[in-house]
Amino acid sequence: MKKYWKYVSRYKIYFILGPLCMIIESMGEIVLPYLTADIINVGTVNGDIPYIIQAGLKMAGISLIMLCAGIAGSWFAINGASRLAADLRKDVFARIQKFSFSNIDKFSTGALITRITNDITQIQSFTQTMLRTTFRAPIMLIGSMVMAVVMSGQLAGVIGIVVPVLTALTYILILIASPRYTVMQSKLDALNSDTQQTITNIRVIKSFVSEQYEKEKFGGINDELTEKSTHALKVMIWLRPISRLAINITVIAVLWIGGNHVTTGEIALGTLTAFIGYLNQILNSLNTLANVLLRASRASASDKRLAQVMNETIDLTDDEAAFPDKQVESGDIEFKNVTFRYFKHNREKVLDNISFSVRSGQTVGIIGSTGSGKTTLTSLIPRLYDADEGEVLVDGVNVKDYSLYNLRESVSMVLQVNTLFSGSVEENLQWGNENATLDEIKEACRIARADEFIETFEGGYSHMIEQGGRNLSGGQRQRLCIARALLKKPKILILDDSTSAVDTATEAMIREGLKTALPDATKIIIAQRITSVIGADIIIVIDEGKIDSMGNNSELMINSLPYREIYYSQMGDNKEERNG
Ligand code: ADP
Repeated sequence: MKKYWKYVSRYKIYFILGPLCMIIESMGEIVLPYLTADIINVGTVNGDIPYIIQAGLKMAGISLIMLCAGIAGSWFAINGASRLAADLRKDVFARIQKFSFSNIDKFSTGALITRITNDITQIQSFTQTMLRTTFRAPIMLIGSMVMAVVMSGQLAGVIGIVVPVLTALTYILILIASPRYTVMQSKLDALNSDTQQTITNIRVIKSFVSEQYEKEKFGGINDELTEKSTHALKVMIWLRPISRLAINITVIAVLWIGGNHVTTGEIALGTLTAFIGYLNQILNSLNTLANVLLRASRASASDKRLAQVMNETIDLTDDEAAFPDKQVESGDIEFKNVTFRYFKHNREKVLDNISFSVRSGQTVGIIGSTGSGKTTLTSLIPRLYDADEGEVLVDGVNVKDYSLYNLRESVSMVLQVNTLFSGSVEENLQWGNENATLDEIKEACRIARADEFIETFEGGYSHMIEQGGRNLSGGQRQRLCIARALLKKPKILILDDSTSAVDTATEAMIREGLKTALPDATKIIIAQRITSVIGADIIIVIDEGKIDSMGNNSELMINSLPYREIYYSQMGDNKEERNG
């Protein structure tokens, strides 16, 4: 709860004035039945009209104050709670932004979305209820109980039996419901994850005609959520009817006992009426408190889930960087006995004792079967993950000793599937470098061979790209992403299968263009096609996380059986010519 103090103190005006207004409103509620009794006992019984008018005016005045206090109290409560929620959302979002890839791998995207939406809404709703009722309900409960005793000690005995019974019952109901709400929340996670995944991949789903399968899967998850929600909520549907029943039984008992006292003249009629008013207030306050407790239990489940995000240790920071101001100067890369696993408890290594070095300006080709560890290897350079053993050095300095900003600023990574955002071509490219001029953008597009299709677009560089770049072909998207990466003027450029959708002739032109445009940058090309890496200064052949062989094309043709196999399987027709 300590973490919420910073938000409360930021908006203390709402958190003080809200409850204060509610206290004023509840004090009015306590006084009103007393005045009613007075009007009946003194005014009505004696036919004293001026007294009735005077007391009536007093009641109207109090009601007006209560109205204003009630409106103001609700306004402060709504504002305080929504501001707290907005700040909390901002902080959780900022925390997620700081997550390393392995932190993100731990949570599903759906679970993170639920936390930032539904869980924070639960906390907001609890805060709002709390601001409105924390003081109001106890004041009403205690005040009405005191007044009831003052009015008639005898009748108050009835309340003394009902209140503890009702309190115990409510408490039991909440104890049963709380764990059920936690389960319900986890089912909501699953639903959000599935929805997010299905909508993001709707094109693939349609192309595999698997809508029916997805519908059934979603139906199953949805049914489970419904079942768990009903399971939780059905406990609470007992709360209101039970309280109502208790109120009604108590009113009947009070009327029965009190009615007898009125006939014998022991209690005035007005006193009995006021007593029933207080009785209603007592039981309503109990109901309200139960509601607060219920929301508190839901909010506490959400708070625990938010704490998982906020307390998640970020395993990749630059807090201990030895040279936080150092910039990458040239782009030399060295891997020294690097070993890496995605799951630290797992013995299986994704990269096993990798060592190699590359000088700036060189082109490195990485080739190997799917899942052999090519992407993982390159993702250690901009520190998307950290090596478990060994060192990754850039310009002779361990990557951990740079600030993450400086390191990542010097590395451009283009993936096979890249994200483009809704916005113009120019805006998407400026994402690589917000200060890039149109001339620089055009030059980058020329190198990436993107200029030829952009010029055919209506509006050229102002042409609007739809979300995810869905109004572009795969090859166009890849070329735009290469241009975007070039605008960053990287010292190290990593192309991870990023020309797979581009024809070989265009791909060759892009490679040539890169050589001329970035003569000093280190270029790493991961590819399936041997033609993509054949001209590289060094080609690394990876097999099951290990370097199988390394060298240029001619060396590998002599020394590496796997390389020769890949070569002949792809260049089969030219085998004789190449061998000769
Ligand atoms: P390649 O690029 O050669 O196809 P990757 O480097 O992508 O191979 O993957 C190497 C291995 O690591 C594969 O077995 C893959 O399943 C696993 N892997 C890749 N990314 C993750 C991840 N984020 N979490 C867990 N395992 C992963």
